[in-house]
Amino acid sequence: MIKNKTFNIMPDKNGFFGNYGGQYIDEKLKQEFKKITDTFLFLKDDEEFNNELNLLLKHYVGRPNPVYFAKNLSEKYGAKIYLKREDLNHTGAHKINHSIGEALLAKKLGKKKIIAETGAGQHGVATATAAVITGLECDIYMGETDIIKEKPNVDKMKLLGANIISVSKGTKTLKEAVDAAFSAYLEEYQTALYAIGSAVGPHPFPMIVEHFQNIIGHEAKRQFYELTNTTPDCIIACIGGGSNSIGLFNAFLDDGSVEIYGIEPAGKSKKENAASLNFGEDGIIHGFKCKLLQDKNGTPANAYSIASGLDYPGAGPKHCYLKDTGRVKYELISDKEALKAFFELSKTEGIIPALESSHAIAYGIKYAKENPKKKILINLSGRGDKDIEFVLNTCKY
Ligand SMILES: *Cc1c(COP(=O)(O)O)cnc(C)c1O
Repeated sequence: MIKNKTFNIMPDKNGFFGNYGGQYIDEKLKQEFKKITDTFLFLKDDEEFNNELNLLLKHYVGRPNPVYFAKNLSEKYGAKIYLKREDLNHTGAHKINHSIGEALLAKKLGKKKIIAETGAGQHGVATATAAVITGLECDIYMGETDIIKEKPNVDKMKLLGANIISVSKGTKTLKEAVDAAFSAYLEEYQTALYAIGSAVGPHPFPMIVEHFQNIIGHEAKRQFYELTNTTPDCIIACIGGGSNSIGLFNAFLDDGSVEIYGIEPAGKSKKENAASLNFGEDGIIHGFKCKLLQDKNGTPANAYSIASGLDYPGAGPKHCYLKDTGRVKYELISDKEALKAFFELSKTEGIIPALESSHAIAYGIKYAKENPKKKILINLSGRGDKDIEFVLNTCKY
């Protein structure tokens, strides 16, 4: 491991975390992105802005959500397992943390609208919700295939008053939806803000999303200490683009006694997965450099995971940096293992986890079996209501 003064770095002036990140964008957006960066850097320490944000997080989202000692799971597997309950947030996952932050930032920038893409619809619902509560218009770009597949979330977004724009190019799923949302933003940036769905994209978006997700780790560290008088031996979170994980990890990065694991989806096989930190090579996607699943020509591959919130072919730039330094270990959990954990948590603790979060749970159980004395903190990034029908009707288990 590289000996650093701190692993919890901010991006450099060009937006890089080590070799990753940056700003590969249309020249005409450069000025606008500087304005977004400067406004954000001012607001993040501004008392009035933080009061407004914290009020919404407390009374609207329902924070702080608890750290829960999973007694049954702990007794069964030997170690002490604790869950950070992001599943209890309004709208059912951690995404609302940064969606509300982005919406408030859009207001301060004087924008009238937020633009976002969505795959399974989770980010779309969180963004549409944040738009309602802050009084913004909301355009959600979504692949035609996903619109059919994810009807309940499409209905929710419609109820929330969002405009859903159907994207019928290519595979008609997330990747094309991001491209379409980016092109629309390029035309509308003077009146709209692009609200990205994870700690990815060109600088300053990864920094902004990470900042609004840091509340997970801040709360969890304090709550864990209140319960145990100590810090966890090990913390675990799943990695899609890397927002719920980085929000948990940052609070623990500089405490060398804490082992940190990011869990990537191994999917079905070495060919069908979304484990960019394990199998990717340096490349550029959606305006930033990262470890990327790609074909021989450098075209981003079609990532796959049973959990649609994890199937992104790249990963947030800070995770790529943390992988290179060795501070965080990036491990693999397959579809099958995640499914097993989905049922296991439901049956032992009465908590139905999102399929994304089930990857972190599965690794936590594995780790507990091998390390029976340890205290483990797992980020339960979201609830599984959205996955029940799919799991029961479509999956072989
Ligand atoms: C979207 C999503 C994820 C993956 O996104 P990250 O940016 O990696 O956190 C994980 N869990 C849930 C419940 C999600 O909805």
